[in-house]
Amino acid sequence: MDHSRYARQMVLPNMGQQGQDKLSAAHIAVVGCGALGTVAADLLVRSGVGGVTLIDRDVVELTNLQRQTLFDEEDARSRRPKAIAAAEKLRKVNSQVQLRALAVDFTWHNARDLVRWHDLVIDATDNHLARLTINDACLDEEIPFIYGGALGYTGMTMNILPGGPCYRCLIDDIPPAGAGDSCDVAGVLGAVTAVVAANQAAEAIKFIVDPDAMRKGLLDIDLLRGTYRALDLPRDLSCPACVEGKRDFLTPERHQEALVICGRNSVMLQNPTRGGLNLQDLANVLLDRGHHCLVDRFRLRLMLEGYELILFADGRTLVNGTEDPAVAKRLYSGIMGG
Ligand SMILES: [Zn+2]
Repeated sequence: MDHSRYARQMVLPNMGQQGQDKLSAAHIAVVGCGALGTVAADLLVRSGVGGVTLIDRDVVELTNLQRQTLFDEEDARSRRPKAIAAAEKLRKVNSQVQLRALAVDFTWHNARDLVRWHDLVIDATDNHLARLTINDACLDEEIPFIYGGALGYTGMTMNILPGGPCYRCLIDDIPPAGAGDSCDVAGVLGAVTAVVAANQAAEAIKFIVDPDAMRKGLLDIDLLRGTYRALDLPRDLSCPACVEGKRDFLTPERHQEALVICGRNSVMLQNPTRGGLNLQDLANVLLDRGHHCLVDRFRLRLMLEGYELILFADGRTLVNGTEDPAVAKRLYSGIMGG
């Protein structure tokens, strides 16, 4: 293969022709084509990796354009699936890379199949459930993954390698409903997602070319203060996933099942939270964030982006105004935090 286009990269220490050959033989899965995924995939495709699989269930919207660098106004107008739109852009950037676009929900029953046969996975998701699912699937398949997250002006990233601490050593379980912020409510700076994703891409390239050069521990980034801190994160010796071998997030119990209610323009999400919801606590959190909601003993009702969400105390959530499960799940994770 002609590598002349990579001249500026091949002169780098540790790279050379040999490193470039390793890159062009590598296949990477990018789970999530949002702020992190578009930036990381762009850098990886330009660097000349052999193949990139793009996985995202969502469609492009106008509010994505502030930070999701592979999309434009036309993608948002026609609400194109993110994975498809991203792959199309990237094919124009580098036709030597095999691009696979999967507009699917990454969830318990397909996670293993989706990560299998890849050398590495980039976590470019925006919620704990998806990351814990990636974690379980990658542990099972013995594939490294690179965690990334961003909120406000801050971000984090960590390399999660077989035999080392896993994501569940870092966060034991999904926080209770309303405990975490999400980008939908707390906002996120496009520059911070770009910094996190650039770090993820750099670590992915090092994993393929020179794994000894990879960063250890967690990198904590705060662009408001302008600080970058490296934190040592030891393995949790009682970790249910990497020590005890449990794969809790590869079972249906922990995942949302979306039921489209035909003729009613509604989607019902089931099993979204463990042990039900404290609706009054959740209402207080949402009110603090400026959402107007109505709450009684049995349900909490709020409007979001023109859709009506009704959360029941047992954890079920009805989303009115759509028959698209992806929209319902996005709205739900938007208010619940991730
Ligand atoms: Zn662990």
